[in-house]
Amino acid sequence: MTYQNFSLKQLQDIDAAHHLHPFTDHKDLRDAGARIITHAQGPFVYDTEGNEILDGMAGLWCVNIGYGRDELADVAYAQMKELPYYNSFFRCSTPSPVLLAQKLAEIAPKNVNQVFYGSSGSEANDTALRLVRHYWALEGKPQKNRIISRKWAYHGSTIAGTSLGGMEAMHGQLHGAVPNIAHVMPPYAFELKEKGESDHDFGLRAARAVEDAILEAGPENVAAFIGEPAMGAGGVKVPPESYWPEIDRICKKHDVLLMLDEVITGYGRTGEWFAAQRLGLEPDTITTAKALTSGYQPLSALLVGDRIAATLVEKGGEFYHGYTYSGHPVACAVALRNLEIIEREGLIERVREDTGPYFAEALEERLAGHGIVGETRSFGLMGAIEIVSHKDTRKRFDGGGAAAVAVRDHAIAEGMMMRAVGNTMILSPPLIWTRETIDMACDRIVRALDKAEIDLRKT
Ligand SMILES: *Cc1c(COP(=O)(O)O)cnc(C)c1O
Repeated sequence: MTYQNFSLKQLQDIDAAHHLHPFTDHKDLRDAGARIITHAQGPFVYDTEGNEILDGMAGLWCVNIGYGRDELADVAYAQMKELPYYNSFFRCSTPSPVLLAQKLAEIAPKNVNQVFYGSSGSEANDTALRLVRHYWALEGKPQKNRIISRKWAYHGSTIAGTSLGGMEAMHGQLHGAVPNIAHVMPPYAFELKEKGESDHDFGLRAARAVEDAILEAGPENVAAFIGEPAMGAGGVKVPPESYWPEIDRICKKHDVLLMLDEVITGYGRTGEWFAAQRLGLEPDTITTAKALTSGYQPLSALLVGDRIAATLVEKGGEFYHGYTYSGHPVACAVALRNLEIIEREGLIERVREDTGPYFAEALEERLAGHGIVGETRSFGLMGAIEIVSHKDTRKRFDGGGAAAVAVRDHAIAEGMMMRAVGNTMILSPPLIWTRETIDMACDRIVRALDKAEIDLRKT
C-alpha cells in the first residue's frame, strides 16, 4: 500500500468523504476522524502516528495467532496462483475446502462431522436458521420452526443475524424481523441476579426462562434454541456453571435442537477447540468464523451435527441455499494453515493450563478492587470489567455508557486497545499472549481506570 504518500489528515478526509463504517455514528465520525491502523506485528497494532497499541481485542475477536504470520501470506499466494477461485455448486469442489472440512470434523465434538461454508458469521447464522427450519420441514414438522434466543445475544448483522440476536437498538432499526424468533432473559448475573440468590440458582432460573418460552409456544412449534457459550459483543456475559447443563436437559426433553454460536469462542479462545467441548455439549449446529482464519481471510464454517446431516442425505431434495464464496479455496487454505499453527504452537493448551487461569487471576487481583470496578469475569481469554460509580451498591455512572467510553479512550491513549459495551469494558486477546503480556495489559488498564476515575468523579 502506498498510504505513506498521504498525511493522516488526508486519509481521514477521504475516509469521511467516501467510507461508511460499520456500527458508527457517521456524524460523530466526520467530526472526530478515524484512527487509521497501518500495520501490525505479533500482539501490537500501529497507527499513522506511529503509536504502538497492544491489541486487547485480537482485531475483532479474530486474530488468535497474532499479526505478521508470513506463512499465511505464503499459503494464500500459492493458492491464488494455483486456483484463486472455483465454486462448490453443481457437484463441483476444490481440494482446500475438502481438506479443511475433514480437519474440522476431526476437531469438532464427536457428533459433528459436516461443514457448510460462508464468508462471515452472519452468513453462517443465516445458513443455520434456514437449515434448522429445513430440517424440521424434511422431518414432516414444518410448523416446528420457532427459535428461542436471548436478549443481548449477538448473532450478526444481516437481517437473519439481527433477528436472531437480541440487541434492542439493532431491532429498532430492523423494520420487520424474521418471524417466529423469541428472546428471553440472558444469564447475566451481575445485573439480573436477585438479592440473596446464588449464582447456581440464578443460572437455573435463566435456563428455565428458555423452558418457559418453549412451553408457551408449545414444544411442537419450537425448532431450536440458539446461544453463544458466553455472550461476546453483548458484554462478555459468562453464564453460571449451572446454566448450560440445564439448557441441554431442557432442549433434549422437548426435542428442541441446540444451536451454538461459537463465532468468538471457536478455535481455542476458551481452552478447547470449541466451548461445546469445555461445556460437555453436543450441539446440532455450531456457527464459526472469526478465528477460523485468525482474520487473515473472510471465512465461516457452519458445523452441522449428524442428526441434521443424516436427514439431509436420507430425505434428499435440493437445499436451495449457498453463497458464491462458499468454500473459497484461498480462504480455506489459509484456515487449514491457521489451525495447523494453533496446534503446532500448543496455543489451546496454553490458554487452558496457563494464560486462561492467569488472565482470570490478573483481572481479579489487579482490577476487581479498583474504585470504579464492580466485577471482573472471564471465560478462557475473554474478559469483562464492569464499570460502576459505587462498588457496594453497583450503581452505575450517569450518562449511559459514557463512563466506559471514557475508560476506553484513556486505555487507547495508554497503548491498550479494548472495547466498551454499555457499562462494560471487554477484552479478547490473541492466544499468543503470555503472562508478561497480560501483566503489561493490566498495567495499562489500571492507569486508564485511574485517569478515568479522576475525570468521572469531577463531573
Ligand atoms: C461476530 C459475530 C457474528 C457475526 O460475524 P460476522 O463475520 O461479523 O458476520 C456472529 N455471532 C457472534 C457470536 C459474533 O461474535
